[in-house]
Amino acid sequence: MSNNSILTEQLVKEFLTQHDLKGPNFEETPQRVAKLWDRFLYDDAGYPNIKTFPTTNSEPVVMKNHIAWGYCPHHLVPVQYCFRIGYIPKGEVVGLSKLARIAEYHVKKLPLQEDLTVAIAEDLMELLHPHGAACMIEGVHFCAVIRGIKSGDVKFKTTCFRGEYYHSKEAVEEFLNA
Ligand SMILES: [Zn+2]
Repeated sequence: MSNNSILTEQLVKEFLTQHDLKGPNFEETPQRVAKLWDRFLYDDAGYPNIKTFPTTNSEPVVMKNHIAWGYCPHHLVPVQYCFRIGYIPKGEVVGLSKLARIAEYHVKKLPLQEDLTVAIAEDLMELLHPHGAACMIEGVHFCAVIRGIKSGDVKFKTTCFRGEYYHSKEAVEEFLNA
């Protein structure tokens, strides 16, 4: 068990005591919460190893409907992110699963959704030097849902467009309709 885990366990124990939350269901809660956070924050291999491959295709590559779970930085409450990530290759592509790995790497840093969107698009620009990169995220923020926006279907949408996507309405439309 890591030092981080031990600290989380102590903090949760104090939280439960403070709020007089006790009984058989809470007995192992501190350990469970610590394990959950330890896994979420540290159970990964760091930034994905990105290998690029040459291509003669310069048509957009779009990955859509990739779901990843994170936590919002303001309330530490789960967020479900649905990603649409694309780029227009300029001689190089990445393995398709890497787009999801890049997204998941950033999610573990507990970013604001707005910043997460920018970070992904900018990583693609840096890694692949493509004609353009685009990221759209739809987030279901449980902090918003449980605090009053009661509609179960509320989603927050953020976008970031770089390169050709920034300048071309058609490229954006094609991305959104892919
Ligand atoms: Zn929040």
